[in-house]
Amino acid sequence: MSYTLLTLLHVLNIFVLTPSIDVIYPRPLEDSDTSYIARVDSNFIFGSIHPTEAMLSINGIEVKVEENGAFITFVPLDWNNKRYELTAIHDGDSARYNLLFDVYPPAKPITQPDLTLPRLIELKGGVARTHPKGAYYLFPDSGTVVFTDAWQNGYYRLPLTGNHSVWIQGKYVIDNDTSAIQTGISGDSEPAIIPEIQAPVVWKGRIVQSDRWVDIIIPVGRKVLYRISEETDPPRIVVELFNVISHLDHFAYSPDTEPVKEVVWDQPEDRLLKLYISLSQPCWGYKVNWNETDFIVSVRRPPVLRKGVKGLNITIDPGHGGNDHGAIGPTGLTEKDANLKTALVLKRLLEKKNAVVTLTRSDDTYRGLMNRINVAEDAEADILISLHHNALPDGVNPFTELGTGTYYYRPQSRDLANALQKELIKRLQLPDEGVYYNNLALVRPTAMPTVLIEAAYIMLPEHEALIKSEEYPEKLAEAIYKGLCRHLKETKKHRKRD
Ligand SMILES: [Zn+2]
Repeated sequence: MSYTLLTLLHVLNIFVLTPSIDVIYPRPLEDSDTSYIARVDSNFIFGSIHPTEAMLSINGIEVKVEENGAFITFVPLDWNNKRYELTAIHDGDSARYNLLFDVYPPAKPITQPDLTLPRLIELKGGVARTHPKGAYYLFPDSGTVVFTDAWQNGYYRLPLTGNHSVWIQGKYVIDNDTSAIQTGISGDSEPAIIPEIQAPVVWKGRIVQSDRWVDIIIPVGRKVLYRISEETDPPRIVVELFNVISHLDHFAYSPDTEPVKEVVWDQPEDRLLKLYISLSQPCWGYKVNWNETDFIVSVRRPPVLRKGVKGLNITIDPGHGGNDHGAIGPTGLTEKDANLKTALVLKRLLEKKNAVVTLTRSDDTYRGLMNRINVAEDAEADILISLHHNALPDGVNPFTELGTGTYYYRPQSRDLANALQKELIKRLQLPDEGVYYNNLALVRPTAMPTVLIEAAYIMLPEHEALIKSEEYPEKLAEAIYKGLCRHLKETKKHRKRD
């Protein structure tokens, strides 16, 4: 082709733009032309088109396109046809794109492992639930040997007390068919003898102080399942040790155990030892450790509160990173970038106000969830804040009141979540979704109050445009800073009252 013709084509190309359509979600997997979604009646589809003034229709219905070309719509799905048909028209020129969808391939059925129940098994941490796939109930420590009496869909049942049991996924069980601790099964024709676990007897406890922590030490004898929770009014930590017998006649207190006022025990059921750790002020973190066979609850001494965030040790966690993009906006803005940008601005702001700040990542690298929690714990953070931008699961109508939400899991974090949410609403002026109790990994740590902020919905064209705006990171950082100040002021007032 001659140079003149090429140039002419280039010039034409500038003035006669062929429309293009970029769908962000649903998006086909690599090496496939089909995207997998949940089996829902209607679903959202979003992305952007160029030129931005082109007309877009999806399955024959015209879709509103924003100034920057972004669009989102919620359309009924035809499961006989399984496709979105997109057409963009501009100046008589058109682009068509058929996006195929299907339901996620069904998970492979889990076959029951070849083992005899009941038996003893060893756990490698994990989470025990109220029933298979049920709510998180307790978090066993690695190396705990427990008794199991049933298996269902990949989960083992672990009896606690009476007719109360929890369930744990097979992946948290070590060597579940060759374990050396399998005992008491004698030959095929013989009935199985249940391996009786000797319930440890607890005779005494002691409370030991250190600079930052007050340790309640209970020599149990071996690791057992336990559940720990906080109560806010009056403030106390409640510990349940399962399959333990109390003979607790002796408890030694160090001279200064502040904020631990007293530890009292109860045995409300056979083999259930309950400890009530009452506190002189709201709980500000605790940790559980096993030192050989001693069970140790370390209660955090609350930090001294000065002006604002001065002297406080704060860890900020910009969610996602590296290959994990998080949610993606219609014009391609990634959540990982939006989170990091605000985190860097927030770090500078908090440091200017004399806080000590640690980031779980300061560039575009991937960090696992446990790794992020370890960063906060190693830094001995007083507060951990995880920053995110939201998206919806399949089937939820995006044309409802979507805005800002703050998440917590431990009661000790609830006041902080409330204070942050109030300032976020005031300053971002997005709809108020309120505060959520949710078992997300980044709000499960116990060592410090921890919250997760979903500041806005990156998948919505208007929110994405807001997040992209120059002033947004400053605005969000300021809101978080003000929320922290509000919480610390309220806490200080509360301390004075007591
Ligand atoms: Zn996220």
